[in-house]
Order: sequence, then structure tokens, then C-alpha cells
Amino acid sequence: MVNAAINDGTPHPTATARQAESPERARILVVGGGYVGMYTALRLQRKLKPELQRGEVEIVVVTPDPYMTYQPFLPEAAAGSISPRHVVVPLRRVLDGCRVVVGEARSIDHAKRTATLTTLASEEEGAGSVTLAYDELVLAPGSVSRTLPVPGLADHGIGFKTVEEAIGLRNHVIEQMDIASSTRDPAIRDAALTFVFVGGGYAGVEALAELEDMARYTARYYHNVKPEDMKWILVEATNRILPEVGEEMGKYAVRELRRRNIDVRLETRLESCEDRVAVLSDGARFPTRTVVWTAGVKPHPVLAATDLPRNERGRLKCTAQLTIDGVTHAWAAGDAAAVPDIAAGEPGRECAPNAQHAVRQARVLGDNIAASLRGEPLQEYAHKYAGSVASLGLHKGVAHVYGRKLKGYPAWFMHRVYHLSRVPTFNRKARVLAEWTLSGLFKREIVSLGSLEHPRAEFELAAGGKPQDNPKGSS
Ligand SMILES: Cc1cc2nc3c(=O)[nH]c(=O)nc-3n(C[C@H](O)[C@H](O)[C@H](O)COP(=O)(O)OP(=O)(O)OC[C@H]3O[C@@H](n4cnc5c(N)ncnc54)[C@H](O)[C@@H]3O)c2cc1C
Repeated sequence: MVNAAINDGTPHPTATARQAESPERARILVVGGGYVGMYTALRLQRKLKPELQRGEVEIVVVTPDPYMTYQPFLPEAAAGSISPRHVVVPLRRVLDGCRVVVGEARSIDHAKRTATLTTLASEEEGAGSVTLAYDELVLAPGSVSRTLPVPGLADHGIGFKTVEEAIGLRNHVIEQMDIASSTRDPAIRDAALTFVFVGGGYAGVEALAELEDMARYTARYYHNVKPEDMKWILVEATNRILPEVGEEMGKYAVRELRRRNIDVRLETRLESCEDRVAVLSDGARFPTRTVVWTAGVKPHPVLAATDLPRNERGRLKCTAQLTIDGVTHAWAAGDAAAVPDIAAGEPGRECAPNAQHAVRQARVLGDNIAASLRGEPLQEYAHKYAGSVASLGLHKGVAHVYGRKLKGYPAWFMHRVYHLSRVPTFNRKARVLAEWTLSGLFKREIVSLGSLEHPRAEFELAAGGKPQDNPKGSS
């Protein structure tokens, strides 16, 4: 059995063999446990409840982490306003009607209806990969950071897409303040207090704004580090930031950041960051230990290891019904999928890669798979972009939603209300709300727990082992 293939490592040859073993059970394989993966599986387990109970359908979700990350909360997690556990949703708890497999799809042979997976167990056993047969495929591996061949970037840069990166960055920033506070070398101090962010979309702007706000607050607990000693630099290749909130609000955001002494450099690119010196296209050079790369995303590379059609930008070619174009029994949505934006009324336009589309597409996707299994007609995905909200730090924000423009405290408040209403599960909403309430009553947390990244360092030292080069995690 294929189920056994995941549990005991026995590879399974083909879908045909699987169907011979359990001919009437349809397996829906969901690749990815993010927005699309989780919401589609949720919808399917609700819509197909009778079929699941009768054992006619099985939903398998394959995902590298056993949790879904609510990415819009990552900047607040980096600032310490929300604890990391509350930014993620445990998939096993919410998807109790599905089978969650912690692993990665390495390739897909849709002609044979099989996926090649590596799981934690297959790696541990040295068994390599296992083959899983399916009847319906939902391909939702999302996107990865879109990097450019900038010298030194791979060695010194960090992205901002995962909870690990957000928390790592928070620890790193506070640690740099510790270094600056204790060094006597002005060059080391200067580099430690220089933070370069590349990319002016919401990920980069929110991450920079929240971390700067947190560091500004934290500085009051250092006798020799003042907010004006720090250099926060935002490098953006185009002539605007936050295109999601429109031109006027984008300009406001630039003014607001500059008012806070943040060095916003438009029409500028990072040319190199070798030897820990960020060199910009305008000739500026900044010795720094922090380069955060948030210059856009590209579809996940696993899509190239499939026999499914992709467009020139590498996204899966999809129809408005969220089927993959030209093939049967294959579906996609979210950042990995080029879905026609039929609500925009412009032929050829694709839905942008954002959560607003991902979550709504997942709903239609779940409904359409259920409909197709029952032989019912499919619906088309159409959603008119509602605009966007962005936080610029505690009590500061910018928003352009349904034609209404807001800035400052009202925008920040709207940002919080909107995301609180969107974060999955009542449990998470209650915990996040409790954290916000408590942080309004007490002082902000300013602790760096970088040593968590090296839990064995202390014991290795005690046991006489070779200490690590950099046990406390500075990069
Ligand atoms: C910091 C940040 C802030 C954001 N803020 C906003 C916002 O305010 N508003 C908004 O609309 N959008 C926002 N976004 C964008 C939004 O989060 C994404 O558009 C959305 O997550 C896309 O959903 P998805 O399901 O396609 O991908 P994801 O949610 O990224 O999910 C992809 C999943 O696939 C898994 N996966 C990857 N490879 C494999 C594999 N080989 N096998 C199995 N699983 C795999 C991943 O681990 C992940 O779980 C933000 C993004 C970031 C990074």
C-alpha cells in the first residue's frame, strides 16, 4: 500500500497498482501546507465529510513543516509583539480529517499520477525518496525569495519569509546592539548598528519599520547606544515603495520612514555585499553585518520538476476554475499559480501573489474539487483586489482599502483588526489579542534569545567538547 510507503519506507510503484488495491478510494494529494494548502484541505474535509466518513476519499497533505505560517504577522513577531508560536497554525490540529505528512515533494509525474517525496523518516532511514500515487493533485508550494546574483548575498544575506528568519533577525538585531555597546572598535560598532533592507514591498517595509521601532525602544536600556547611532537603510530599485497601497500612500510611507531617520534610497540597487560591505548602485558603501533581502518572490523551484505547464515566469498555467491548463485532475492556486484575474477586466492579467487571492482561491479550489468528484459544474474564481494595509511600527501604518486611504494610528488599528479577523482559528485570534492587550499594559520585551539556535553549546562546553566558532549565533 502507498500508505505503508510513507509509514515504513516501502516505495510504491504506480497509481494503477494503488487503484488495484483500493479501487474506490480517491486520494487527493495536497502539496504545501501554507495558505492555499491549509485552506483547501480545510474546505475539502468539510465539503467531503460524508465521503471521508465512508472511506471513499482520502486527503493527504505533504508539507515540510507541520504548521501553516501566517506570514503577515512575521514583522510583528520580529518586533516581539506576537510570540512565534501564535504566528503559526498546527496543521494536525486543524486538519483532523486529513493525513499530514511532514516531508517535501521532490518531483511530480502527473502522467503517471505519482509524486516523489522525501519525508523525515525516509531521510532518517537513508531510504531516499518514496513514491506516492494520487488521483487528484493540488499543487501549492508557494514561492521562494527572488534573488539576483549579487556578490556576497548568498553568504551574508537573510530573507524574511519564515518564522525562523523573523525570530532569527530579531535576535540578531538585539545582539548587534549588544556588540555595539561593548566594543571599543568604532568600525565594529558602526557595522553592527547598520541595517540594510533590500526591497520596498510590504515584507521589506514592514520588517524594517517594525524592527527599527523595536530597536529604537530597546536602545533606552543601553547606556551607550542611542537611536540616532543606528543606520537603517531601505534600498528599492524602483521610484516607489509599497505599490500595494497606491502611489499617494506609498509617498506618505517614504515621508514617514524618512521622518524617523530611516535612509530610504529609491531607484537604487544593492550591487554587492562581499566582506560585509553593502555597496549600492549610487556609490554608497555601508559596512554592515545585516543585509535583509526582500526583493520579491519567484515560484517555488519544485514546479520545474513536474510535467505540468508553466508560463514564462515559472508559475503554473491555470484556468479561472483553478485547474492546471490542459491537464485533468490537477489543480493549483496561490503564489505558485498563474490564475487569470477575470475581475480586473484586462485580458491576460494574472492574480498577484498575495494572501488576499490565496485564501479566496483556496475556497473555490476546495469547492471545485468536491464538485468535480460529484460530477457537478465548476465555478470560476473572480475577486476584485480590495487594496492593502501595512504596519509601519507600533501605532503607525498606512492603508488603501476599497478606495479609502488611511494613515498613522487609524491605518495601524485597521491593520490589526483586519489581520486579527483573518488569522486562522479562534484559538489563535484569542491568543494574539491577549498578547496585544498585555503588551499595551506592560513594557515591551527586549530580550534576544539567539542562543536558542545553539541549544547544545553550553553542554558541549561543560562536557569538554570543541566549542563552536560562533556559539551565540551572530552572523
Ligand atoms: C513577511 C510577509 C508579509 C506578507 N504580508 C502580506 C499581507 O499583508 N497581505 C497579503 O495579501 N499577503 C501578504 N504576504 C504574502 C502572502 O503571505 C503569500 O502570498 C501567501 O502566503 C501565498 O500563499 P501560498 O499558499 O501560495 O504559499 P505559502 O503560504 O508560502 O505556502 C506554501 C507552502 O508550501 C510548502 N512547500 C514548499 N515547498 C514544498 C514542497 N516541495 N513540498 C511540499 N510543500 C512545500 C511551504 O513550506 C509552505 O508551507 C506576505 C508575505 C510575507 C513573506
